[in-house]
Amino acid sequence: MFAIFAVTCFVAYLGYRLRSLTRSGALLTVVTGTVIGFSFGWFGLYLLGVFFSTSSLASKYRSHDKKGVDEIVEKTGARDAMQVLANGGVGILCALGYQLTNDPVYLYMYVVSIAAATSDTWGSEFGVLSKQKPRFMFTFKRVEPGTSGAVSTFGTVMSMFGALLIVISSLVFIDLKVTHLLLLWVIGLTGSIIDTLLGATFQRTFRCTVCGKLTEQKIHHDVPTTYVSGWHFLGNDAVNFLSVCGATLICFLVFG
Ligand SMILES: [Zn+2]
Repeated sequence: MFAIFAVTCFVAYLGYRLRSLTRSGALLTVVTGTVIGFSFGWFGLYLLGVFFSTSSLASKYRSHDKKGVDEIVEKTGARDAMQVLANGGVGILCALGYQLTNDPVYLYMYVVSIAAATSDTWGSEFGVLSKQKPRFMFTFKRVEPGTSGAVSTFGTVMSMFGALLIVISSLVFIDLKVTHLLLLWVIGLTGSIIDTLLGATFQRTFRCTVCGKLTEQKIHHDVPTTYVSGWHFLGNDAVNFLSVCGATLICFLVFG
């Protein structure tokens, strides 16, 4: 058990030094990793590690080509505590459920929560690099890359690969029938679908009074932005959390 705690601390420290995590993000990574590791053992940490390492690489991949996106999305650069909780918080709940009941459904739910988070992150980190501008859900109009609720073909394909990687990676530790594997993959993907739907509907958006751009940021060009639409409490972290929650809940209903 001490080894799990030590490895988690080391990874969080590494993430902090490599600027993938802020100080608060590193602290929350230790909490998340420890709880998940204590409940699911090395399998839990391993899966979290696949998500964490591939997502950090995806963020850093061609980061100079994502400068325009930095103007639109709410948070850029190192992940803070709320971002870690948005993606790993549901995993903590699954870990507690498994600890209390020993029901394998919580193990499946954990795999889905990580698959959903990975699919989301890969979809947005790679999707913004698409040569074609993404289309907004419902209207199908082309919008600026990074706009929540918009999808590109490349981003969609990458989010499918992200979820698939997690489900296949879990085979190293757990036995899955092919039907279960495919189910977990599809359920993981519902996470990024919910993310896009919420992004297109209820996520808050603002407009910059200086450059006129739509953005998720409360301050743009050093000036407070004006509210355009969406629920005030529903920022990017809340949308991510609800998407992972939604997918995990579907898993509970299917396998429970
Ligand atoms: Zn501006």
